[in-house]
Amino acid sequence: MAHLINRDDCVNCGACEEVCPVSCISEIEEKRVINQAECVDCGACKEVCPVNCITGPDEQ
Ligand code: SF4
Ligand code: SF4
Repeated sequence: MAHLINRDDCVNCGACEEVCPVSCISEIEEKRVINQAECVDCGACKEVCPVNCITGPDEQ
């Protein structure tokens, strides 16, 4: 499992990418995307997202 970014709501601020300990967040077509194979579910990105558009495995 992995955390997931809702592309419709992401404002591409980059806060999540800055805090990800495994650098598995990147920018694709002006939105941030989480590499599902590399995410270790630490939850750091979810805590800093200003628009709450990141969900954990238990919320999907
Ligand atoms: S949950 Fe942790 S490892 Fe996964 S994308 Fe967010 S910051 Fe990175
Ligand atoms: S912190 Fe939230 S709004 Fe900002 S780039 Fe990441 S997912 Fe998008």
